[in-house]
Amino acid sequence: MGNQWGFESPLPHHPVEPGAFLNREEMMTHVICEPCIGVKDKACVDVCPVDCIHGEATDPQLYIDPSICIDCTLCVEACPVDACFAEEDVPPEWQDYIRINREYFLP
Ligand code: SF4
Ligand code: SF4
Repeated sequence: MGNQWGFESPLPHHPVEPGAFLNREEMMTHVICEPCIGVKDKACVDVCPVDCIHGEATDPQLYIDPSICIDCTLCVEACPVDACFAEEDVPPEWQDYIRINREYFLP
């Protein structure tokens, strides 16, 4: 079945939304940056509705799984040291943490 965006829907009566086939790696996520190091109080874990913030006891900080994060911003508000940012808001000096968060979840 076609639709106004020119996509073929895989399911009848379920039109494909624009962006539905974007690679999740290319989409926005939230990122935990340097201020978490040594704090790790898990306030963000307690508020995250999709359980996408993880880290082992031996890790220096916690990390956000970009394939699961729904960008709800609750971790930004919960973090006592302002370590959580939307990817687009990560300060220049902490840009490397975008890669660090992603790589933590690579196989
Ligand atoms: S933005 Fe929301 S979904 Fe993403 S890590 Fe923070 S609390 Fe979890
Ligand atoms: S709330 Fe902030 S400091 Fe605490 S674990 Fe999460 S990112 Fe780290």
